[in-house]
Amino acid sequence: MSARTGSSAGPGRRTNILVIGGGLAGLAAAVRFRREGWDDFLVLERGDEVGGTWRDNTYPGAACDVPSHLYSYSFALNPGWSRSFSPQLEIQEYITRVARQYRVRDHHVFGCEVLSARWVEGDALWEVETTRGPFTADILVGAFGALCEPSLPDIPGIGTFAGKVFHSARWDHDSDLDGKKVAVIGTGASAIQIVPAIAPRVAELQVYQRTAPWVLPRLDRRYSALERLACRYVPFYQRLVRGGIYWAHEAQAIALAKRPGLMRPVGLLARAKLRREVPDPALRQRLTPDYRAGCKRLLLSNTYYPAFREEHVALVTDGIAEVREKSVVTTDGTVREVDALVLATGFQVTDSPTYRRLFGKDGRSLGEVFDTVGRQCYKGTAIANFPNMFLLVGPNTGLGHNSMIFMIESQVNYLADAVMTMKRGRLRSVEVRATAQEGFSRMLRERLSRTIWNVGGCASWYVDKHGANTTMWPGFSYEFRRITRKFDIDAYHVSTGGPQ
Ligand code: NAP
Repeated sequence: MSARTGSSAGPGRRTNILVIGGGLAGLAAAVRFRREGWDDFLVLERGDEVGGTWRDNTYPGAACDVPSHLYSYSFALNPGWSRSFSPQLEIQEYITRVARQYRVRDHHVFGCEVLSARWVEGDALWEVETTRGPFTADILVGAFGALCEPSLPDIPGIGTFAGKVFHSARWDHDSDLDGKKVAVIGTGASAIQIVPAIAPRVAELQVYQRTAPWVLPRLDRRYSALERLACRYVPFYQRLVRGGIYWAHEAQAIALAKRPGLMRPVGLLARAKLRREVPDPALRQRLTPDYRAGCKRLLLSNTYYPAFREEHVALVTDGIAEVREKSVVTTDGTVREVDALVLATGFQVTDSPTYRRLFGKDGRSLGEVFDTVGRQCYKGTAIANFPNMFLLVGPNTGLGHNSMIFMIESQVNYLADAVMTMKRGRLRSVEVRATAQEGFSRMLRERLSRTIWNVGGCASWYVDKHGANTTMWPGFSYEFRRITRKFDIDAYHVSTGGPQ
């Protein structure tokens, strides 16, 4: 047994359930299976620890922009959060603690990357090839996440750059940036945390902005010892705090997803902040977005704009023409010397490479199916032609206003009820009906057409190559909770004769 494998888990095994990915979603599923008493499952994880995106994103300044009391599992509240918005390491420690506490680490196979998964109709099972050998399972759970595969920019000459180049989610901690000339490409959620965190250490910081983000105040503070004691010992106090944060966030869905006109005050608030924090009108102009607030993710920071007050921090808004051995050249012909390139350029969300590794009933990969019909999916979870497969954090489960963990737990409820239904009914397979999937997709399209993400006048990764927003959930998160409360077997083709 390899030291990287959690106990009895090993290659070549047949299990009832195989989960791909040991991030927040995979872990929530694993804990649920344990609590239901279903021990016949494995989690295949290509990394060497649980945590997913929180394990991978170790860049300076990494922290969550959803309050900690909400950004935690409902079954594992953490009274010990140090601040209202926790830093990455604290979240990662929380995740590993939950894995230990619920004794699911032993169900993980670490260092195990899934190369392909094929549905074998005759045997009604999934055959899975991995870097650690074959596995088979009755049920496949795709918990491979949305924010895990770095999107690398295709800039001419980037391969010839002689200095260090790395993506924000693969931070090279051996690279010493102190006293160096550093270029950060991108101005999204990751970049606005990186820029103020590294600015004091570097000799020169060039921030390459393609689209200006909307930035709002970050109401972050340390929790007092008294608050932490209250969370730990006063009955229901922490649940009350969490509930308050949840509903305050939930209210934002009204403006984002239902009445985009209500986003106007948010834009005014952000402009006021920009005026206060950036006195130079020319710089302020370049930092002002040209689309409506909320169209892209709203960012929270009190330190991003002030970083540009430093003489050695420059905002570059001309496009990047090419990268040379020791410099970045912009479209206006300016050549800027650079020692290191940080690519804060986001993730492959709508075109995850894992889609090309999952093969359904007719032999086509999920990637091929999505190429043809778009990222259609039933309740973000089930896909026609892929029997006994359930996605977590699938298409149209993203939120702009609340905690993804709430969505994950909703999907896990649905998944657990599906597994229970299959066990009780001795079902061999369940496959969502194409008509149910199409109806659900139609409903999404119709509702999404009214959201700020669709009418806000921006280009974003919420929209796939077909021009459809297949990323965001167009409503309140409790609406998603409601539709995932029960496994609706009527929406599925069912075959009987499965294991008990
Ligand atoms: P992102 O939001 O996708 O931002 C990527 C940035 O890179 C954008 O500014 C983008 O510009 C730019 N970019 C991409 N390709 C480029 C190219 N070829 N040339 C120039 N610029 C390019 O990625 P992210 O910042 O990593 O954040 C991704 C998501 O992760 C967030 O939306 C959030 O959900 C999550 N996240 C959360 C936190 C947090 O909780 N605090 C922190 C980090 C990430 P355009 O806008 O023009 O495309």
